[in-house]
Amino acid sequence: MVELKEDPVSKCVFCGIIGKKLKATFIHEDPRAVAFKDVNPKAPTHVLVVPRRHLASLSQATESDEGLLGHLQLLAANLARQLGIDSGFRLVANNGRGAGQTVDHLHYHLLGGRPMQWPPG
Ligand code: 5GP
Ligand code: ZN
Repeated sequence: MVELKEDPVSKCVFCGIIGKKLKATFIHEDPRAVAFKDVNPKAPTHVLVVPRRHLASLSQATESDEGLLGHLQLLAANLARQLGIDSGFRLVANNGRGAGQTVDHLHYHLLGGRPMQWPPG
């Protein structure tokens, strides 16, 4: 018998948002990916670019995900243009607890609308 509480998808907040069980402000939806506003924005524009398929992190991606990863990055660049932040934006994937990843469903942070510091903390 499958233990539901062991199922990463059923307890994943982003799968809940993608499945419309949890609310979010969507700015993009396509067959492979969605983008929605971060609930706790770190910049005037802070959007999460997320594959529909549950993939825990970038480290879990394989060769077969190459097209999906390209799609996510091109989508982020298109959204940056649409949102008017393409003169200076940052695209970030926190990978693993040591890098601050808190939601174990691959996502890119698209941040803009203010000057960005380098290096990030
Ligand atoms: P991470 O820390 O894993 O790189 O990023 C997770 C991001 O998801 C955080 O910026 C956090 O604010 C955002 N987040 C967590 N839970 C929710 C939620 O329920 N809705 C939305 N829209 N964003 C969320
Ligand atoms: Zn998920």
